[in-house]
Amino acid sequence: MESKKKVVIIGSGPAGLTAGIELLKKERYQITILEQEGMIGGLAKTINFKGCKFDIGPHHYVTESKKIKTWWKALMGKDFLPLKRFTRIYYKKHFFKYPLEVFNVLRGLNIFECIKSVLSYIKIRFFPLKKVKSFEDWVTNRFGKRLYSIFFKTYTEKVWGIDCKDISADWASERIQSFSLGKAIFYALFGKAFKNKRPRTIKDDFHYPILGSGMLWNKVANQITKNDFGQIFVDEKVIEIEHEDFEIRSVLTKQAEKLKKYDANHFASSMPLQELILSLKPIAPEDVLIAANNLKYRGLITANFIVNKKEICPDHWLYVHEKDLFMGRVGNMNNFTMNMVDDKNHTALSLEYFTFVDDNFWKKTDEEILDLAKIELEKMGLARQEQILDGFILRCSTAYPVYNKNYKKHLNIVLKYLNQFENLQLMGRNGLHKYNNMDAAMLSAFKVVSKIEKQEMLRRKDDFTIEKEQQIISGETVTQKELF
Ligand SMILES: Cc1cc2nc3c(=O)[nH]c(=O)nc-3n(C[C@H](O)[C@H](O)[C@H](O)COP(=O)(O)OP(=O)(O)OC[C@H]3O[C@@H](n4cnc5c(N)ncnc54)[C@H](O)[C@@H]3O)c2cc1C
Repeated sequence: MESKKKVVIIGSGPAGLTAGIELLKKERYQITILEQEGMIGGLAKTINFKGCKFDIGPHHYVTESKKIKTWWKALMGKDFLPLKRFTRIYYKKHFFKYPLEVFNVLRGLNIFECIKSVLSYIKIRFFPLKKVKSFEDWVTNRFGKRLYSIFFKTYTEKVWGIDCKDISADWASERIQSFSLGKAIFYALFGKAFKNKRPRTIKDDFHYPILGSGMLWNKVANQITKNDFGQIFVDEKVIEIEHEDFEIRSVLTKQAEKLKKYDANHFASSMPLQELILSLKPIAPEDVLIAANNLKYRGLITANFIVNKKEICPDHWLYVHEKDLFMGRVGNMNNFTMNMVDDKNHTALSLEYFTFVDDNFWKKTDEEILDLAKIELEKMGLARQEQILDGFILRCSTAYPVYNKNYKKHLNIVLKYLNQFENLQLMGRNGLHKYNNMDAAMLSAFKVVSKIEKQEMLRRKDDFTIEKEQQIISGETVTQKELF
């Protein structure tokens, strides 16, 4: 029997774990997953803290892909709760329901603001912007300038930390597809009657594992490590990737001060592209290094609180558009499932702050951020400071691959270079520099598995052909001998 091919997978987020388990199912591979953090799950993990569970910003499971839906359901069975989304926007001290509801918007905005919004919407329908380059252009063309500045500008700028004029229109087109004010008003008025025909972006059904988002990924990781040919190493950061003649030979990891080397036939990476390029040994060409250094990432800090209060808000997510507040979003873990808190009189709240790692905000100590978050929570009227029992800070330096105006040019240079390495496959959110959800990260992992399978099939075919040719050659020799 042919020996198993070795595959090294960098990262144990949804992409890495999906690739790992799918390769094991083929029974032809021996896989090793290398994870820099102390826990598996990547951005989709769930952290236990003093009797409460926190996602890194609540992660809901939603997909258009039948394959992914079936995969999730087969894995989770009855531990996968069907839920209905409830989301609001906090702006000018008012909570706006999302999807928008006409009377709720009228109450919050006042009649004059509403008239101005509708007029600016009508204007843009008649005179749309011809050149759509930025996020601002794209959204203005669909909603009008007024609604764009109320419901998109402040929040988007909080998330990305750059002016909406400098954000590529790609981001809007990927995230806010097929939505129009006309449709929003229509569904706000007649939503109940046409529930199943709502456009995708305002559909509100999703699933959630009974013990938090990370439960699903823990199950996958358990299946991997139970298999004789699967292993996961945590606290091992890939720091160097050795290559020769456009073939990856090995990766070097660092755990505390210990260095370890892993060789393999195939490598699949979900680590950020910039870091991948900078880890190559020998180093990448100058133009590729410059392009990689121009790929930007937005960091995320979550302030996670245990609050001594039973009911704080009915929302799964509360989007904070208010300019005076630094926070971008509040996630109420209790509203996903009450399993997220051991003490049912408590609430697990997660406040999201978006920042670049070289910003002053990132440099604040955990205590400073927790103090600020407590003040902001009180300002919103969600909880009083003395009701907060405990809390912790979580930092992700590369939570969002940034789509600034020139990102595509730099990304193409990086991808063109990396595509020359036949035994290196890229996948996942930062692995492809694509701002996408778990389902897309998984689909990219399925693709990686198919590519590896195809390469192996071709190699087996080659080996088979060579063997056959050798048999024929030796057979001919015998025949010739016999002839003489
Ligand atoms: C706040 C927030 C909320 C979100 N909400 C949702 C949601 O509701 N639904 C949804 O579907 N998606 C959501 N997402 C997106 C989702 O988190 C991602 O799509 C998904 O996690 C991507 O999976 P991945 O494996 O590509 O990357 P990641 O989850 O980022 O995993 C990559 C892994 O690689 C590891 N790694 C990186 N570099 C190295 C290295 N050098 N060596 C070893 N390991 C390394 C990282 O530590 C990490 O564990 C959200 C994202 C954020 C930030």
